[in-house]
Amino acid sequence: MKQHESQPLLPVARAEGVWLFDPEGRRYLDATSSWWVNLFGHQHPDIKAALADQLDRLEHVMLAGCTHAPVVELSERLAALTGLGHAFYASDGASAVEIALKMSAHYWRNRGRPEKCRFVGLEQAYHGETVGALSITDMALFRSAYAPLVRLSDTVPSPDARRAEPGVGALEHARHCALALEQYLKAQHRQTAALVLEPLVQCAAGMGMHDPEYLRLARALCERYEVHLVADEIAVGFGRTGSMFAHQQAGIRPDFICLSKGLTGGFLPLSAVLTTDEVFDAFYDDETARAFLHSHSYTGNPLACRAALATLDLFERDDVLARNRGTAQRLNALAQPLACHRKVLRSRHIGMIWAFDVATDDPTFARRFHAAALKRGVLLRPIGNTLYFMPPYVIDDEASQCLVEGSLGALDACA
Ligand SMILES: *Cc1c(COP(=O)(O)O)cnc(C)c1O
Repeated sequence: MKQHESQPLLPVARAEGVWLFDPEGRRYLDATSSWWVNLFGHQHPDIKAALADQLDRLEHVMLAGCTHAPVVELSERLAALTGLGHAFYASDGASAVEIALKMSAHYWRNRGRPEKCRFVGLEQAYHGETVGALSITDMALFRSAYAPLVRLSDTVPSPDARRAEPGVGALEHARHCALALEQYLKAQHRQTAALVLEPLVQCAAGMGMHDPEYLRLARALCERYEVHLVADEIAVGFGRTGSMFAHQQAGIRPDFICLSKGLTGGFLPLSAVLTTDEVFDAFYDDETARAFLHSHSYTGNPLACRAALATLDLFERDDVLARNRGTAQRLNALAQPLACHRKVLRSRHIGMIWAFDVATDDPTFARRFHAAALKRGVLLRPIGNTLYFMPPYVIDDEASQCLVEGSLGALDACA
């Protein structure tokens, strides 16, 4: 709050497409999709129309003992997209992670192995900030103050290619990290319920990217050691990395998938945990205590489900993944001056994510860059010294040009 005395909040009066407008009508490019949630721009007419239609039918009803068409249809469509035929709903990403942790441990308990109740995650992982999700979020800044509240999970080395030894490539580094995972599971599998990871990109770690080989090896190890694989696709799902879901680039099937953020196109809070028939079957019983009990008032909210269905309609109708490849190619070309900038140490790109590590040891770089970019009409929030773009998929060439020029200007002004 104190920092805002020198760096005022941006008042946003309205938004359209990739642009936010302040009360004076000045526009700002929403280059991080409002924290990675917006896919098709603000005020998308189709999502608005679906919501208006749903508002005239049913705004909400509890999902205990009741059901409704939007939640049934959404579950079926997510099942068709992922091959995981069972869905559990919450309203935010951290809660989806909580649910996956609880469901995994409860699965093992129902299978007569209650000692399998610990989790393992990757170094520098981010899975949300509720007390359970913090236990596998490996970020001191978010966790230290609450350490006494948290039952810390173990971590294994991150396959993030930036962490490779000098001269070691991304693939070799991924294999090396999988070996460390193997050592860990060999020793700990009896207590371990699940491995939780962000497939392909550890976004909150500063867009740390890894080779899909790690996911293949991790999947095989989880199989061998009877440990669930939880894919946290909250940030990378829905086309962000170029495929509908990031884990699909490795050709694997996780035991749990956590979804949120882009699920509703950025309109309403909603999250889902998808899982397999095998997990479902472990809870299928006459006894209530063996069921998965996680009571959430707004679970499966019809409005949020309709926003999600309208979002999935857009993916189908507009062949979004193919169109994004073209958009990414053009933005890549435009971003060349940034990738080659003398202050940029490492630039990388996957799907609709771009990242540039900036040579600076100024701990206030992110804040100063944010302010300098805002002056140039671009809303960006570097993570540490990593500048990144995660724009809505509807960004056009004019906006892409503004994004790159604004970033170059801001970089020259403060790096
Ligand atoms: C944002 C995020 C979360 C948490 O989602 P919230 O809705 O903010 O609680 C969890 N995992 C990943 C990978 C995320 O990017």
